[in-house]
Amino acid sequence: MKVYKFGGASVRDTAGIRNLEHIVRLEGASDLMVVISAMGKTTNALERVVDHLVAGHEDEAMQEWIAVIDSHVAIMRELGLQPGVDVRLQGEIPFDPARPYDENYDQIVSLGEIMSTQIIAVYLLHQGLSVEWWNMPRLLRTNDCWREAVVDTLTSAATIRAGWERKDRPSVVVTQGFIGGTADGRRTTLGREGSDYTAALLGNFLDAESVTIWKDVPGILNADPRLVEDTVLIPELRYHDAVELSYSGAQIIHPKTIRPLENKRIPLYVKPFGDPTAAGSRIHADAVGPINVPVYIWRKNQVLITVRPLDFSFVLEESLNRLFEIVHRHRLKVSLIQASAVTISVSVDHTRYVDEALDELREQFRVNYNDGLSLLTIRGTTPEILHRESAGRNILLSQTTRRTARLLIQE
Ligand code: ASP
Ligand code: MG
Repeated sequence: MKVYKFGGASVRDTAGIRNLEHIVRLEGASDLMVVISAMGKTTNALERVVDHLVAGHEDEAMQEWIAVIDSHVAIMRELGLQPGVDVRLQGEIPFDPARPYDENYDQIVSLGEIMSTQIIAVYLLHQGLSVEWWNMPRLLRTNDCWREAVVDTLTSAATIRAGWERKDRPSVVVTQGFIGGTADGRRTTLGREGSDYTAALLGNFLDAESVTIWKDVPGILNADPRLVEDTVLIPELRYHDAVELSYSGAQIIHPKTIRPLENKRIPLYVKPFGDPTAAGSRIHADAVGPINVPVYIWRKNQVLITVRPLDFSFVLEESLNRLFEIVHRHRLKVSLIQASAVTISVSVDHTRYVDEALDELREQFRVNYNDGLSLLTIRGTTPEILHRESAGRNILLSQTTRRTARLLIQE
């Protein structure tokens, strides 16, 4: 069997959905698990619905919600489906002011994937394919760490394997990436852009021959084509190269995707949605040399936090634990660490939890911070490249090893 994953950009309109059908048919439409994200920018729109509701702006929330529903209804009509008959969309927003923000978030934001997969499954069925829709909130068991739920792999693998091995299973299964569910039936999400991770887990559970991520780029490139001209395709990568690239901020695959695949040595393909027979990039375990072109990776929206213990203790001996305990508890994602005898600096993604963490840090440390930063990682750097990339930039912190340079830049 194979796993195919289609991201939001690939299914943002009916042309995309028809192209998905074409790709599924190329594979002979057999023994395929198709994992799909929410359509286009639906996840962002649903996040805004949550924010408006929490802020008490019900009218704005309603407008945003109706726009989401209307766009799905329009796509159904264009596909020849009957809204309310072929697919019944959620009527009310599942919001409960008594619940914590993050729990409401998961109940609402997860609907993007539910809607996209319901519509696409019914469409494929109407096109004559043998298809079944699977509801991950009932199959992929997680804890209730809202917005970053942890998958119970043993329970989930058993349930999903049993479903897959059913004698009457149709040849194509369509299901959601990014979402799961608790034992008591509440929906959870696995972290933004988490559909790749779902695809990898399903590949692992079902011992897939391969997992393919269909994207709107030719494969894994050495830089973001929106920022750099003359990018080149990296045809083959080792698993650990892929982990490093995604962790540095290359938004090509979710950082958690590799481990479930590496465990079972399942190859991962990243292929262009618009040109399905192109080779794309292949990430696998067989002998491949290191990447032989410089790779530029931007991780945007960083905050640099520098702390100095109030009690003049030696920072590396006595404060590391305290610092990272706070960082971890507030779910900050660390992208870079640097220490001197008396200070530690960490750069983290700018999330809504940063302010709370800063307040808590101030109780124990003198804290400085800068926001609006970008972290540029250059793998395979040379003195010339470093010189060129540093020129004219306001660099707050830099780290270089023999082959890798990391620059934290104020833009
Ligand atoms: N729809 C989710 C997001 O936009 C998950 C994903 O696309 O992988 O973050
Ligand atoms: Mg997405």
